[in-house]
Amino acid sequence: MIIVMKPNCPQQEIELLCAKLYRWHLIPEVSMGKDKVVIGLVEDTTEIDPRQIQNLSLFIEEVVGVNKPFKRASLEFRNGEPRDVQVSTPSGTVTFGQNHPLVVIASPCFVKSEQMIVETALQVKAAGARFLRGGAYKPRTSPYAFQGHGESALEWLATAKSVSGLGIITEVMDTAELPMIASVADILQIGARNMQNFSLLKKVGATNKPVLLKRALSATIEEWLMSAEYILAAGNPNVILCEREIRTFDIKYTRNTLDISAIPVLRSLTHLPIVIDLSYGTGKLELVTPMAMAAIAAGCDSLMVEVHPSPQTALSDGSQSLTPGFAQFMGKMTLFCQFFGRWQEQYDYCEMGISTGNGRVGTLIPQ
Ligand code: PEP
Ligand code: MN
Repeated sequence: MIIVMKPNCPQQEIELLCAKLYRWHLIPEVSMGKDKVVIGLVEDTTEIDPRQIQNLSLFIEEVVGVNKPFKRASLEFRNGEPRDVQVSTPSGTVTFGQNHPLVVIASPCFVKSEQMIVETALQVKAAGARFLRGGAYKPRTSPYAFQGHGESALEWLATAKSVSGLGIITEVMDTAELPMIASVADILQIGARNMQNFSLLKKVGATNKPVLLKRALSATIEEWLMSAEYILAAGNPNVILCEREIRTFDIKYTRNTLDISAIPVLRSLTHLPIVIDLSYGTGKLELVTPMAMAAIAAGCDSLMVEVHPSPQTALSDGSQSLTPGFAQFMGKMTLFCQFFGRWQEQYDYCEMGISTGNGRVGTLIPQ
């Protein structure tokens, strides 16, 4: 149940109302919206007549039931107001949200060496990416497949961060590694395979780091939002949803199916920002740009795309990696985002002139 307060309701009235709710053994969660304050009640309120709540204060505009299993993640919980997830990076705060420019996250699948990640970071930064995502700990189907360079990769990511100024996203698979990963990452990634690892969700929910929550391979939208609810319920409001693919039957031409329709569906259900992982969603380089355009048109807030300085030598997922075409990709996205009002002019190739010293940036810039 949520209580929407009238505009300009005095703070004292809100405190008074919260005190009354506590006396009823209800725990109020106050969200300050742009114009109105909303008080959420996540406990079971089926026995309570909304009119009883309404009578608690003259400043209550309306009392609305939330009849969904996810409460804090629901759009109603914020009275329809989208959440901005603000992330601090060395080059300033980046906002993921509906009324903000598209955020591009570039990423080699995993961090191979310091040189490789620093080089990639500089290239993608120059082309307009705001985040670098790279796997230090990789979830692999086979126990014999390469599992990531772990702690060393985290150090290399830290170097790439300080050299490029990009924010860092990397995956957490094990609660034991969380403190170490959180000391480098600006956003913690929960991978598709751990979407329902509830103890991990509770642990990242207890940190103050934004969390990128990937949709599991066969998760329904409701299951995904229930996982987001775990993180929100543990006290961390900064959850970003990441659609990456769902399992369908055509594995020959599309590998998996990027569920573009999830974007408008999520918009109608939740206030949380939405990232589309293009590379996982398509598995094929030639599908990345068309699906990116579809995702932007459908209203996503951020795109994640795999890049690699030399895809032919990548140990995994080279076939879906975009470098050295990343800058051309960004050029197309700029035009497309401008049309949809989702581009920040200051990032339009603002760093075209900056040389990284390796002479490769020039080859990435579209003419
Ligand atoms: C990844 O992002 O590196 C990854 C393994 O993706 P997913 O969890 O979506 O399979
Ligand atoms: Mn990968």
